[in-house]
Amino acid sequence: MQNPFADFQLLKSRNIAIRAGEQRILFDPTSIPNKWRSTNTTICISHAHADHIAGFRSTLRKLVTPETLEIYKSVSVKPNKVHPIPTGKKFSFEDGGTIQLHRAGHMLGAAQFVFERNGARLVYTGDFNLQSTLTAQGAEPIPCDVLLMEATYGRPDAIFPPREQVYAEIAEWTSQELKRKKVPMFRVYATGKAQEIIRIINTYLTVPVIVDSTIAKISQVYKSFEIPLAFYNERSTEGREMMRQGGFVYLSSKKLPANRTLFGQPVSKAVATGWARIFPMKKYDKAFILSAHADFQQLVEYVKQSQPRAVHLTCGNTVTFGAVLDKLNIKQIEPRQRKQLELSDFL
Ligand SMILES: [Zn+2]
Repeated sequence: MQNPFADFQLLKSRNIAIRAGEQRILFDPTSIPNKWRSTNTTICISHAHADHIAGFRSTLRKLVTPETLEIYKSVSVKPNKVHPIPTGKKFSFEDGGTIQLHRAGHMLGAAQFVFERNGARLVYTGDFNLQSTLTAQGAEPIPCDVLLMEATYGRPDAIFPPREQVYAEIAEWTSQELKRKKVPMFRVYATGKAQEIIRIINTYLTVPVIVDSTIAKISQVYKSFEIPLAFYNERSTEGREMMRQGGFVYLSSKKLPANRTLFGQPVSKAVATGWARIFPMKKYDKAFILSAHADFQQLVEYVKQSQPRAVHLTCGNTVTFGAVLDKLNIKQIEPRQRKQLELSDFL
């Protein structure tokens, strides 16, 4: 039988891309090489975080979830040639092969891409999280031949506490700071982390949440996809009135003000990130270990369940996690700069 990967190549310079027959597929590209600007090139955009959305500016065909498209449109201009594909649905290429989108759990709209051709299956995870959160249902590992996966927390010390425990810690700290007449303030990513913190405060406490205007726009998109969030835009009349009265939580996606007061009220600054497990967060009064990514154990779990024949680590601790792959007897595909690799050599 013919090797189903006979015409697969992994291409990598700065971007992760594959070639299969006449098709070229770029995953979350940061730039599009000139030679790739043809009708046979498809861009897959896994989610709406800033380091993944450069492909929206391209005039090439783009596959995204409807949620990712709406988040992008809420803060940027409407892109062209976009094919919104809900998770679970398939896109078929003209010369054979399909791409199906699966939930990635990382944030609203985050998708894994499953490319199938000639009986071979390749998965690009994008950023993922196997654990469900208050704002996103967890991802499931997808069995495949070749796995292109993130390894942001691919180091053994990156093991996160149970999410419910962190939620309770956030609620407790917030309520303590309010009792001390401080404004609990969270510095967050405008997309994903902000909405999870709003939902935590809405769920555990009865205090108003004031957000900056970028967070407000994106949170409206979350609401339109039926994720309940109660918040006030700091620029709205109601928001300003709430701030004047005091007794609120504040979320900012921008650099924190140096004077540490809001409407004359002292501020306690917090951050919520997986990196707080590894590094001291000295700029903040409090740091919570809350990540939208898989921790080390989840990365191992994904590989064990998906049983790939070969793995390419797209980002993160590739050397440390590469050693884990060795132990699991799974080949690691390590492209050299500007070198095209025949995937069949690794299988
Ligand atoms: Zn992300």
